[in-house]
Amino acid sequence: MKKLISIVVPAYNEEQVLPLFHVRIDQVITSLDCYDWEIVFVNDGSKDGTQRLIEELQTRDPRISSVNLSRNFGKEPAMTAGLEHARGDAVVVIDADLQDPPELIEQFLQAWEDGFDIAYAVRTHRDGETWLKKATAARFYRVMGKVSNVQIPADTGDYRLMSRRTVDALLKLREHHRFMKGLFAWVGFPSKAIEYRRYPRAAGITKFNYWKLWNFALEGITSFTIAPLKVATYLGILISMFAFFAGTWITLKTLLRGDPVPGYPTLIVTMLFLGGVQLLFIGILGEYLGRIYNETKNRPLYLVQQYRPATSATVAERVQHQQLEHNRTQ
Ligand code: UDP
Ligand code: MG
Repeated sequence: MKKLISIVVPAYNEEQVLPLFHVRIDQVITSLDCYDWEIVFVNDGSKDGTQRLIEELQTRDPRISSVNLSRNFGKEPAMTAGLEHARGDAVVVIDADLQDPPELIEQFLQAWEDGFDIAYAVRTHRDGETWLKKATAARFYRVMGKVSNVQIPADTGDYRLMSRRTVDALLKLREHHRFMKGLFAWVGFPSKAIEYRRYPRAAGITKFNYWKLWNFALEGITSFTIAPLKVATYLGILISMFAFFAGTWITLKTLLRGDPVPGYPTLIVTMLFLGGVQLLFIGILGEYLGRIYNETKNRPLYLVQQYRPATSATVAERVQHQQLEHNRTQ
């Protein structure tokens, strides 16, 4: 029997590139016919004709499964939804906008057959992205590597292949604040990097602006390290020590010289500085507290409006098998 490979494609307002994407991916997977294929499109609450397009593709291509989420949940939950519905022995995650060249899948599979659990794509070039985005991204990965105990490879996106056991492990992590790059790294397992050139979008516009990227970075840091909380402790100790010595010095000076009362500027600067530092760390505390709040609500990560599995024999058989298993354990 052939092995089944699933390709998970989160899509949010991608009607402009989806037909193009299907053509490209079809070329690649048709040439790799020693495998069975499933393409899982996840419509992440698109406001354009993405869902209609997916359904239309589905009537023409029996390898396509579709998951339609109830609204826009964001890329990370959409990806999780895709992973959860993928039936493959290995699963590839790829963006719909063709920035990740589907041709790389062949090399992914090679690595997988060689015994690696994860094969991920590393960008050597990033065309069509501003220098500011590149610079901040590089910095972010350097800082993350230093302050947390998971090593997230730099210049790596979500584009990768994962073995079944990796996907199952990933799906056990149910946290609401899903920083996928970190979760991938957390899982561990033997991984192999494959270099490629990242192209500009084939069509349409990016869904990530700088504000979103900043929040993404915050998510990454707060999900994987409590270092910012510790900074407060040490800064507090430093400032207290300084205050102690400064206090002693000022007291002695006043006793010996009988100082009158100038010092208004010093006073106001000190007050503003300490007020600022305190507010900053209350803010950081709040970031963590808010996340704890969200996690304790324990809501599902996403809601599925409709799931239509592929009609191909392999997928249909696995879906049926899983349903039988499910009924048996009920
Ligand atoms: N995406 C999604 N939900 C969102 C935002 C994005 O499913 O809320 C998908 C999008 O359709 C695309 C992928 O995530 O397939 C990457 O998005 P994009 O290309 O906009 O990000 P960038 O490549 O600019 O980082
Ligand atoms: Mg993109």
